[in-house]
Amino acid sequence: MLFGALEAGGTKMVMAIGNENGEILDRVSIPTETPDITVPRIIDYFKGKNIEALGIGSFGPVDLDRQSETYGYITSTPKLAWANYDILGNIKKELQIPIGFDTDVNAAALGEATWGSIKGLSSGIYITIGTGVGVGVYMDGRLLHGMLHPEAGHVLLSKHPEDDFEGVCPYHPNCMEALASGPSLEKRWNKKAYDLADNNKVWELEAYYIAQGLVNYILTLSPHRIVLGGGVMHQKQLFPLIRSQVVKLLNGYVKTKQIENIDEYIVPPSLNDNQGIMGCIQLAKMELQEQ
Ligand code: ADP
Ligand code: ZN
Repeated sequence: MLFGALEAGGTKMVMAIGNENGEILDRVSIPTETPDITVPRIIDYFKGKNIEALGIGSFGPVDLDRQSETYGYITSTPKLAWANYDILGNIKKELQIPIGFDTDVNAAALGEATWGSIKGLSSGIYITIGTGVGVGVYMDGRLLHGMLHPEAGHVLLSKHPEDDFEGVCPYHPNCMEALASGPSLEKRWNKKAYDLADNNKVWELEAYYIAQGLVNYILTLSPHRIVLGGGVMHQKQLFPLIRSQVVKLLNGYVKTKQIENIDEYIVPPSLNDNQGIMGCIQLAKMELQEQ
């Protein structure tokens, strides 16, 4: 059985065809331009491919409330051409198949929960540290939405006493995205992130901020595992730095076997950076089952 997957990002759209086992059989990527250019290209790709259902993991914020009149819309994004845009409805109108819809990071969490490091656990979170910071939450066997959906990349952090960087988030001077995203690294140190690989100070400060975010998630969500992905996490030296900062900040308060085994608790993605697109396939499967 074939399923379609669409990872709708602010800079690119990744489209794929996969089967029920999450195997990717075909994949293409196109730049994200305006909806009138990009959406017809998405529809063209999926038409005639014999897919039973489609899963979309989208940048946002998005409306995930099935009772809402604007369910399936991208809502208040700063990417103005896409603000208040009915991405789900416009694709569904043309393809006429069941379409599952969630945030990009929830899709990645679902990919890890179905086929990766969260598989078999009742909860886990997926964090991307890339152009932005986002958190997908898989909790008690399903994706967490709540009032809107978690926007935990914007949790507020304490500034390092020696850090006078103003941050890159237009909304918050000291949120995680402001202080720890890829663009924040590059602006603070005035170099491309991968050119900073050998500078220990950079990654100690980066780990200091990421660990604060993780501690907030551990204390509020109590996930069974934390998967850390996104471009910045390609700097693998961050993992031990983050783990030791998390232990230090928890300061012995949370005593579980997971925290004792922190190397297996805070882990990189396990699906070769396919967690997002595979999660979209699972969204498609779930939507088909629902109908
Ligand atoms: P996006 O978030 O747009 O989906 P990525 O997760 O690849 O895409 O994030 C892109 C950001 O990650 C860039 O801003 C860059 O600063 C950073 N980045 C990409 N590759 C690396 C790398 N190898 N090392 C450190 N940072 C990186
Ligand atoms: Zn913010």
